Amino acid sequence: MTQAPERKENLFILTHVPSLKEGEDWNVIEEQYRDVVLTKLEAMGLEGLRDSIEFEERFTPNTIQQLYGANGGSIYGVATDRKKNGGFKIPARSQILSNLYFVGGSTHPGGGVPMVTLSGQLTADAINEDFQLPSINKKHIG
Ligand SMILES: Cc1cc2nc3c(=O)[nH]c(=O)nc-3n(C[C@H](O)[C@H](O)[C@H](O)COP(=O)(O)OP(=O)(O)OC[C@H]3O[C@@H](n4cnc5c(N)ncnc54)[C@H](O)[C@@H]3O)c2cc1C
Repeated sequence: MTQAPERKENLFILTHVPSLKEGEDWNVIEEQYRDVVLTKLEAMGLEGLRDSIEFEERFTPNTIQQLYGANGGSIYGVATDRKKNGGFKIPARSQILSNLYFVGGSTHPGGGVPMVTLSGQLTADAINEDFQLPSINKKHIG
């Protein structure tokens, strides 16, 4: 009962949307998109949802880009479908500049906290290997 007043509910709706394209502004398409989502949810059984909303907070790719500086306002990288993602995620090492490394949700192996943690470990390993530093992981294990 800490999430909403008595006899009311807190509803969190998470939809998957593409990353921002150049010139695209979610302030412009936000209302239209909201309408599509609410219509779909009402059709799926949440009847009267639209008229029951008392307070609403929205998080769009614009918000995510502004708050966290995420590329294209995306949380799982700019390509989220499996075909493009599988073997084509940004690798830990830059293929253009030496001494440049990448880490985080849009890089190999992918988004989400467990994958991002793994990405940090893989990138640290790559740096250790390139600079012949003792591996932190191996040091702890050994
Ligand atoms: C609503 C929502 C729900 C989610 N739910 C889940 C979930 O249930 N489970 C799950 O595993 N994952 C979930 N995720 C995804 C997960 O949060 C991300 O995949 C993960 O946080 C990405 O980690 P990251 O380190 O790449 O980026 P971030 O966590 O975004 O960290 C990047 C950091 O860099 C900072 N930064 C950006 N630019 C600069 C700069 N120029 N200088 C200094 N600092 C800068 C940002 O402020 C931020 O703190 C969710 C994400 C969202 C938005």
